[in-house]
Amino acid sequence: MQHLLEICYLIGSFGFIIGLKLMGQPDSARKGNLIAAFGMAVAVFATLFLSKTGFQVIGNIGYILAAILLGTVVGTLMAKRVQMTAMPEMVSIFNGMGGLAAALISIIEWRNIEHEIIESNVAEMVANFGLPEGFTIVPMSHYLPIIAGLIIGTISFVGSIIAWGKLNGKIGDFRFAGQQFINAIVLIAIMAAAYMNYHHVNTLEAGTNVWFYVTMGLAIIYGLLFVFPIGGADMPVVISLLNSFTGVAAACGGFLYDNNVMLMGGVLVGSAGTILTVVMCKAMNRSLTNVLIGMAGSNSSSGGAAVSGNVREVQATDVAVMMKYASKVIIVPGYGLAVAQAQHVCHELENILTEEGVDVKYAIHPVAGRMPGHMNVLLAESNVEYDKLIEMEHINSEFPTTDVVLVVGANDVVNPAAKTDPTSPIYGMPILDVDQAKQIVVLKRSMKSGYAGIENALFFDPKCGMLFGDAKDSLQKLVNEVKAL
Ligand code: NDP
Repeated sequence: MQHLLEICYLIGSFGFIIGLKLMGQPDSARKGNLIAAFGMAVAVFATLFLSKTGFQVIGNIGYILAAILLGTVVGTLMAKRVQMTAMPEMVSIFNGMGGLAAALISIIEWRNIEHEIIESNVAEMVANFGLPEGFTIVPMSHYLPIIAGLIIGTISFVGSIIAWGKLNGKIGDFRFAGQQFINAIVLIAIMAAAYMNYHHVNTLEAGTNVWFYVTMGLAIIYGLLFVFPIGGADMPVVISLLNSFTGVAAACGGFLYDNNVMLMGGVLVGSAGTILTVVMCKAMNRSLTNVLIGMAGSNSSSGGAAVSGNVREVQATDVAVMMKYASKVIIVPGYGLAVAQAQHVCHELENILTEEGVDVKYAIHPVAGRMPGHMNVLLAESNVEYDKLIEMEHINSEFPTTDVVLVVGANDVVNPAAKTDPTSPIYGMPILDVDQAKQIVVLKRSMKSGYAGIENALFFDPKCGMLFGDAKDSLQKLVNEVKAL
C-alpha cells in the first residue's frame, strides 16, 4: 500500500514516454495520445486519492474536482468546435494555460513562504538572537524552482497569448530600433530582481519585499518584447520554444513538490519542445540565440524586393492533360489545403493519377501550414500512405526529374526569395525547389501573399501556370477532367 502512489506515478510516467514515442509516427499518433492521456489520468487519480502512507483524499478536493470538471467541459467544447485551420491558435492558448498554471503555483508557494515568515515571527527571533551559522530562511534549492517557475511560466503565458493573436491575425509585428539590446537588458534585469528577492527574504531587510512582483512584471515585459517582433515565417520556432518553456516551468513544480510524475511530464514536454525548436531553427536556418533575444524575423523590415512580370493563367482541362500524361507528379501541400479542407479530394486525384501509371508523391516542408506536422496530420486524415509523404531534404533532389509540380495552397515554402533576395524576411529559409521541375501549376484563389506577407516570384516564372480558385474546387475539377480524358 505504501508504494502504491509511486507505482501509479511510474505507470503515469511510462504512459507519457510510450505515448510520446508513438506520437512520433502519424499512424500510431492517435494511440500514443490515448496512452499518454491514460498515464495522466492515473497520475491525477493517485495525486488526489493516495498519499505516501496509503489512501488519503487530498485537501480542497471539492474545489479541485469542480476545476477539473470546468476544464474538461471547456476543453472538450473547444477541441470539438475548433476548425482544423484554427488548431495552431488553440494549441497556443493551451500552452499559455500551462505556463499560467506554473506561474500561479510559484505565486501561491511564495505567498505561503511570506505568510510562514510572518506567522513564525522569524524576523523577531533573528533580530533578538541573530541568524544561526549556516542557516538560510529560504534555501536556494527551494527558491530556485519557485522563481524559475514564475519567470519561465510567465514568459510562456504572455508569449503564447501574443502568438495566439499573431496566428489569428489580431496582433501585428511590433519592432523598434535597439529592441534586441532592450530584450537582453530586460533578461538581465529579471535575473537581478530574482536575486534581490532572494537576498531580501534571507537577510530579512526591513520594508515590504516587492522584488518577487518586480521579477514577475519584468517577465511579463520580456514575454511581450520577445514575441512581438517575431514576424513572417519565424513563428513556428517561437511556438515550439514557448512549448518547451511551459514544460520546464511544469518541471519546476515537480521539483518544488517532490512529485516525480510532474517532474517527468515537465521534463518530457521541455525536452520534446527543445528538440522541436532545434529542428525548426534548422528548417528556418535561424540561430537559437537570435530567437531567444527576439532577433528572428527582424533581419529585415522590408517586405522583400518588388516582383514584376506576367502571370500565366491556366485552365483545369490543360492541367489535367499535363498530369495524366506525366510520368512523375509531385504535390506540394500548404496552408491553403487546410483552409479549403481539400485533403480528401487531393488524395482522390493522387489515386486516379497512380491508377494511370503516374508516380505521385507529396513534398512536405517542415513549416508548411500553421503548426509543426500540419500537412502530415491533414493528409493522414484522408489516408494518404505515409511513404508517399517525403520530407524536404529528401525530395528536393527529385524536382529536376519531375514533369509536373502541383502546388496546392502553398506560398512561402516555395518562394525563391528565400534563396535569392537578402532583403526578404524569409531569406535563408530552405525551401522546396519546385522551380527546378519541368512544369509548375499553382492552385490558389488570387495573387495574395502567404503568411510572411511577401510577393512570390515563382508565380511569374514562365514555367508556372496559375489555376485560380478555391483549392477544393480546383482539385475536384482536375479529378473530373482526368477521369473524362
Ligand atoms: P502560406 O501561408 O505561405 O500560403 C498559403 C496560401 O494558400 C496563400 O497564399 C493563399 O493564397 C492560399 N490559400 C488560402 N486559402 C486557400 C483556399 N481556400 N484555396 C486555395 N488557396 C488558398 O502557406 P505555406 O504553407 O506555404 O507556408 C506556411 C507559412 O506559415 C510559413 O511562412 C510558415 O513560417 C508560417 N507558419 C508556420 C507554422 C508552422 O508551425 N508550420 C506556424 C506559424 C506560421 P490566396 O489567398 O490567394 O488563396
